[in-house]
Amino acid sequence: MPATVVIAGAGQAGASTAAALREFGFPGRIVLVGDEPYLPYQRPPLSKGHLAGVNAQEGLWLHPNSFYAHHEIDLMLDDSVRRIDRNNARVELASGAVLDYDRLVLALGGRNRALPVAGADLDGVVGLRSLDEADDIRDRLSRARNVVVIGGGFIGLEVAATAVKLGVDAVVIEVSDQLMGRVVSPEMGRILLDAHRARGLHVALGTSVRAMTGVAGRVNAVVTSDGHELPADLVLVGIGAIPNTEIAERAGLRVDNGIVVDEYLATDDTQISAVGDCAVCPNPFASGRNVRLESVHNATAQARFLAARLVGRAEPYVSVPWFWSNQGDLKLQIAGLRGPSGHNVFRGDPASGRFSVFCFEGDVLRCVESLNRPGDHMAARKLLADGVALTPDQASDLTVDLRTHLAEATVEPVLTDDRTPARG
Ligand SMILES: Cc1cc2nc3c(=O)[nH]c(=O)nc-3n(C[C@H](O)[C@H](O)[C@H](O)COP(=O)(O)OP(=O)(O)OC[C@H]3O[C@@H](n4cnc5c(N)ncnc54)[C@H](O)[C@@H]3O)c2cc1C
Repeated sequence: MPATVVIAGAGQAGASTAAALREFGFPGRIVLVGDEPYLPYQRPPLSKGHLAGVNAQEGLWLHPNSFYAHHEIDLMLDDSVRRIDRNNARVELASGAVLDYDRLVLALGGRNRALPVAGADLDGVVGLRSLDEADDIRDRLSRARNVVVIGGGFIGLEVAATAVKLGVDAVVIEVSDQLMGRVVSPEMGRILLDAHRARGLHVALGTSVRAMTGVAGRVNAVVTSDGHELPADLVLVGIGAIPNTEIAERAGLRVDNGIVVDEYLATDDTQISAVGDCAVCPNPFASGRNVRLESVHNATAQARFLAARLVGRAEPYVSVPWFWSNQGDLKLQIAGLRGPSGHNVFRGDPASGRFSVFCFEGDVLRCVESLNRPGDHMAARKLLADGVALTPDQASDLTVDLRTHLAEATVEPVLTDDRTPARG
């Protein structure tokens, strides 16, 4: 067992790795280095309750300060890993400190993708990744009259829905012809579009941004590709994140839209692993393709699997991907990964606002998107984890109880669920 584990990045994945190492009995030294000045915190509330002023800051911490001392986790905040010296198995920090490691975990997350248009540097044009950015947006939102959100993905829609709830006029500009086109089916995209519009959100699909204009350095309008000038005193750029990979790349590790790891979450250097948003790894739920996922589940599940491996329990990483997104009163949950093609069936009546879309590729269930139907979501995670066969007819038939179907299925489980710790 390694004597010292250094974890670079004190976000969801880094903090979860440290906590899981102790949970699984790791007796050595753990150092958790984070470049933000805060205790490791959850990001999901930043685009939801925190913006609306519902969550107190302390409610964001993943663990109280005392947790780290109690579990003998050396927390080094407001400092960052600048360089990995693989020859000597040590990292150099911005503060000048040097840490020797037996195992290094890269949990570096990602950062906001920038929009390369004129005016993107004006005051009032913001991105949302960190607590500092969320506090700033909350403050601006309380004074804003017109918000323009660029990007109709998870974060853009969550912020836009919050703005509408707060009574602020909000417009979402999305370059593709569908909301959340990279993650949900066209059926779900259409229904979300109607639901958001019905709640007062303006959405412009198939539209991009030509420029942003301002007065005295402050943004006052967004000029769209079709020549419209949308008034704006706050512009959120929500066009995705890029993984923080630079220190890995400089150290000669393989990078390809993320730090490349194998099914054990190890890089080509067996002393170094990567987890969470910054890691790209083979995923059995994407037919073994390398994928990089950005979700709390992915960060915590990978952290637990890696911690288990570091204490000697070797198993490949397998876990049904799942996500959630609360957009005002629209509670979207997704289990599995949709393939590039296939056919989809509804379970439940979309008009009721409580339904799921079951996405099949051939006969195989790949993904289930549920809106305000958490029972379907929980069943879907089990169906996918256990590889239980379900036909499109069964999926759409409300008389077929998914839990009973699961219980009656006679197939041998082929995949383990993330909640099952790796075997010892
Ligand atoms: C606003 C927002 C809302 C979200 N909502 C949801 C949701 O509803 N559901 C969901 O499933 N997921 C959601 N996510 C995604 C989820 O929060 C991320 O997938 C998760 O936080 C990833 O964890 P991570 O540890 O990989 O990265 P992060 O949590 O980003 O942590 C990485 C940390 O490493 C730090 N770091 C980077 N480089 C260095 C360095 N060189 N040295 C030291 N530290 C470094 C970063 O500053 C950061 O603190 C949301 C994300 C955001 C931003």
